[in-house]
Amino acid sequence: MANISLPRYARHDAPRQPGVANHCLPKEKCGVFGVWGHARGAGLCYLGLYAQQHRGQESAGIAVSDGTKLNHHTGMGLVAEVFDGDTIEELNAVGASGAIGHNRYSTAGGSLACNAQPLLENYIGGQVAVAHNGNLINAEALRLKFEQAGHLFHTTSDTEVIIHLLASPRQQQAPDPLGSTLRYLQGAFSLLFLFPDRIEAARDPWGWRPLVIGRLPDGAYVFASETVALDVVGAVFVREVEPGEIVTAREDGLHSRRYAEAAPRPAHCAFEHVYFANPASVIFGQNVEVTRERLGEQLAREAPALADYVVPMPDSGRSAALGFARFSGISYREAIVPNRYVGRTFIKPSQEQRQAAVRLKLNIIDELVRGKRLVIVDDSIVRGTTTKAKMDQLRSFGASEIHLRISCPPIRHPCYFGVDFARRSELVATGRSIEDIRAYLGVDTLHYLSMEGLLSCMSRPGAHYCTACWTGEYRLDPEHPSTERIIESEQLRMFAT
Ligand code: SF4
Repeated sequence: MANISLPRYARHDAPRQPGVANHCLPKEKCGVFGVWGHARGAGLCYLGLYAQQHRGQESAGIAVSDGTKLNHHTGMGLVAEVFDGDTIEELNAVGASGAIGHNRYSTAGGSLACNAQPLLENYIGGQVAVAHNGNLINAEALRLKFEQAGHLFHTTSDTEVIIHLLASPRQQQAPDPLGSTLRYLQGAFSLLFLFPDRIEAARDPWGWRPLVIGRLPDGAYVFASETVALDVVGAVFVREVEPGEIVTAREDGLHSRRYAEAAPRPAHCAFEHVYFANPASVIFGQNVEVTRERLGEQLAREAPALADYVVPMPDSGRSAALGFARFSGISYREAIVPNRYVGRTFIKPSQEQRQAAVRLKLNIIDELVRGKRLVIVDDSIVRGTTTKAKMDQLRSFGASEIHLRISCPPIRHPCYFGVDFARRSELVATGRSIEDIRAYLGVDTLHYLSMEGLLSCMSRPGAHYCTACWTGEYRLDPEHPSTERIIESEQLRMFAT
């Protein structure tokens, strides 16, 4: 097996360099949705994407099949900006037997129209559209190999290499071209492929990102990143797509096969529970809201404080603050009011946009803050700029004490598996002690939840979660991507679900 080094521009802690591929590092964190067997699939996709808007706010797209050919529409912006009633009706009018959709966000400079998904391509096997949630750590290495062989790429997304792999002669000659393709991928992927006659849903063997199957009352099958999207379209949860599995939805029903064994030690992203997922979703078998409240209770157990009020940092600190207040017996008050029309700040592509969003985002209620001892609960601190701005605001409104409690450990390491935190040098906790961070933020006390405390709130064994952004222990080495077939499997096992 030949390993090659990850190009400098693909390392998250490396300075970003001008030039090819630098402007769209492949590290989006997205939401996918698909439906097979429903005449108005595009309309359902629209709703499913709307329900998962929190997973990506820079572009959206829907691809549909009429049974013989694919069509698609993508654009920059929120789902409601990319699609209007006419666009959805045009896609529905195709008489869709199947449809897949995608919400995307990217890192700095990668917010390009060409990268909006689903990517739709013609290749030797026909047509395929792809929607990807996650990040491949060997995409740059694979791409380089293809480019050296003369391949042309239309996008700067890591997802496009999957199509080049699928179209390659070696995969096309394999008994299962898609399964063979997936065995070359290293990293996190929850994928939906739309072919004219079917949807294929696949998940990496480590199970980094969620991917679930649902069923509509009329029998149509639905795929989604989060269960909240199933709820919105009226589908019932069937099960997760298992790590290492491909599930096919086609005219004769649902079929499953394995392209790889599930990794003996899964790597479910614990940060989905801490921050990303919708509170109403069930992720990796447990409800997100209940989990976040548990994190808050555990935080109160580990780091109590004497205070007048427990105040959540809106919006994602709210659930943990409820748990903290319940356990500590201190009154829960919403003293910080968010402007709901400003997006999440750390996923905006430029520092300037992030700072502007912070200023727009919050109003303080004077009566609940002036002269009061406050426990402020937030879910995480990434760069620290947003948190510092909020602490400064609270001080300026006369808070007498601020005890900041964070419902996860300090984030000190970049994520290579689909979450764009920041480069290592931009993370406030990298190279700083807790006391340094406390002093920088200007609070009276600061406590983070322990790693053990976080994992004690999860329903699956602690070893089954990825915690690399806190611990630096990566399940796959991002410094050594491979272009060789890396996921070996026992014989493909075909079985009906
Ligand atoms: S490094 Fe952190 S954010 Fe990335 S997959 Fe692991 S737990 Fe999730």
